[in-house]
Amino acid sequence: MPRTVARLVTAHQQREGGGFLVRRPFPTQGLDHLDPFLMLDELGPVTYAPGEALGAPDHPHRGFETVSIVLDGDLEHADSSGHAGSLGPGDVQWMTAGAGVVHREMPSRRMQQDGGRVHAFQLWVNLPRAHKRTAPRYQELRAASIPAVATPDGRGSVRLLAGEALGARGPVATHSPVTVLHVRLDAGGVLDVPTDSEHTVGVYLFEGSATLAGTPVTRGQLAVTGPGDSLALHATESMQALILAGRPLREPIAWGGPFVMNTREEVLEAYADFRAGRMGAIPPEIVRA
Ligand code: MN
Repeated sequence: MPRTVARLVTAHQQREGGGFLVRRPFPTQGLDHLDPFLMLDELGPVTYAPGEALGAPDHPHRGFETVSIVLDGDLEHADSSGHAGSLGPGDVQWMTAGAGVVHREMPSRRMQQDGGRVHAFQLWVNLPRAHKRTAPRYQELRAASIPAVATPDGRGSVRLLAGEALGARGPVATHSPVTVLHVRLDAGGVLDVPTDSEHTVGVYLFEGSATLAGTPVTRGQLAVTGPGDSLALHATESMQALILAGRPLREPIAWGGPFVMNTREEVLEAYADFRAGRMGAIPPEIVRA
């Protein structure tokens, strides 16, 4: 049975990090999360003037995974484990914060000086209770290492970050079954893929327009689907979307700022651990971007 649109959510805009504007389809009024996904932010597309580009200075996380998907621009990151690097167009960083990480994500020095175009996503994936305190882990995917598969009609392509579709598999290892696809379709193109009937499935459209089981979806809208075992997207104009699918954890969520645990006590413990320095700090020898 093909999935239909159960809810259509329009992203709201708000400021994050050092003050940059994001489009956020969830959490938003009426949609707390999309179990097992906690948050999706779209940054840009925006063209910064010289000196205007903003990032997210040092801050902690515990209990979930942060996924940075860069479509345009450059992002430099550094964290308390001494890990540092940069992401360019097409690159993805899948960071398991687990027991605790302090990190920062900033536009590159070049972007801060010269300005330029930025378009990126930040996705938060919840961890099952049993893995919330797992050791931090980084999976860095260069654009060239992410499988990109043409759709059968030849009018589009799918980049697979995690999970399976069109006979290919994304490189990311996850702590629960999760699929993340970046879809591009030309006008008239169709993507028709099977979906696990147990999974939550959402489609965030960030360019152009499409229909999903007859329901129009336009730029800045998240279509939360109802039950079914397949998903069909028909592009009414050239479009891009992220498809998020995963087995719901169905566990209690206690969310306090940058920490997402199962109980309020665990969130307070995370704040105490962070303040006491038990999540570490970014080593000073890592040069500030
Ligand atoms: Mn962060």
